Amino acid sequence: MKNMNDEYYMGLAIEEARKAEALGEVPIGAVIVRDGQVVGRGYNLRETTKDPLAHAELLAIKEASKTMGGWRLIGATLYVTLEPCPMCAGAIVQARLPRIVYGAMDPKAGCAGSLMNLLQEERFNHQVEMMQGVREEECSELLKNFFRSLRERRKKKAAE
Ligand SMILES: [Zn+2]
Repeated sequence: MKNMNDEYYMGLAIEEARKAEALGEVPIGAVIVRDGQVVGRGYNLRETTKDPLAHAELLAIKEASKTMGGWRLIGATLYVTLEPCPMCAGAIVQARLPRIVYGAMDPKAGCAGSLMNLLQEERFNHQVEMMQGVREEECSELLKNFFRSLRERRKKKAAE
C-alpha cells in the first residue's frame, strides 16, 4: 500500500542517488525513515571504496542501526531508487525491516519481484511489505542518463 509521504521520501533517496552520480558511481540512493525522521542514508559507493558491499541500502541500514541503537529496524521504512539486489534484499530481511518502497525495477538483478522475491519468501521467518514504482520514471531516467553518458565517454575515448 502506498502512503501519503512515499513520494516525498523517495525524493530524498533520489537526492542520495545524485550524490553517487556526482562521484561517477552508478546513481542509486536509499534512505530509511522512522516516525517521520530520516534515521539512515546511503548511496552507491562501490567504485570509490572498491567494496562490492558498498550498496546504498547496506550503507543506509548500517547508519539506521547505529541511529536506532539496535539491529532490528522495527517500525522503519526503507526507500531505495532501484529494486534491491539479492545481497540487499537479504540484508533487508535480516534487519527485520517491515516495509520497503522502491522506484525502478531491475530486471537483471532485482530480488524484490523481478528475478525472485526474497522479501516475501514464506520460508523465511520475516516478510516485508513492499511498494514498487514510486517516482519510477525519475529513478530509471537517472540510471539511463548515467549509462548513456558513460557509453558516450567510452566511444569518445575509443575514437581518440
Ligand atoms: Zn544491493
